[in-house]
Amino acid sequence: MKTIWPIDHTCGHHADRDLSDRPADRRAGFAEWLARQECTACWRASKEGDEQDRAAWLKAKRAEEQAASESWPEQYRMPPLEGAERAVAWGVRCRHQILTAAYTALVTEGETSEAVWEGIEENARTITRAGWWIDQRSSQPDDLTELLQAATGADRPTENPYF
Ligand SMILES: [Zn+2]
Repeated sequence: MKTIWPIDHTCGHHADRDLSDRPADRRAGFAEWLARQECTACWRASKEGDEQDRAAWLKAKRAEEQAASESWPEQYRMPPLEGAERAVAWGVRCRHQILTAAYTALVTEGETSEAVWEGIEENARTITRAGWWIDQRSSQPDDLTELLQAATGADRPTENPYF
């Protein structure tokens, strides 16, 4: 009974495959299936390539997100936040997320005019305590105006120093 089958893979490589671990009546069918695949080395190489592509894509995406959340405060003239170093980094991300979500809900998808939004943004600029933004991270976009109005003097330690 033949156990070594010569296989011409789709990648152009040739391999002699030992099919002795397959039942004798299944070897021909398996050999046909193998001939429709790339050889093991090519399959591994293309799989690794995919993984590298994906890792590179993830890395680029993360860098892009980081850059977006860093350039956003400058673009929208949002002042630096105050607090412990870790709180500041977190607060900056929360503020970015809260304000972009609110803009989408209120202006892009809602009835709020750009002029009204500018007032909300102006109010948001005065709140520079990082902890305030962290505390509001789960708030609803509709509540933002009220939350901004409820902020106290302690949340505005440097009352509009930039504008
Ligand atoms: Zn190959």
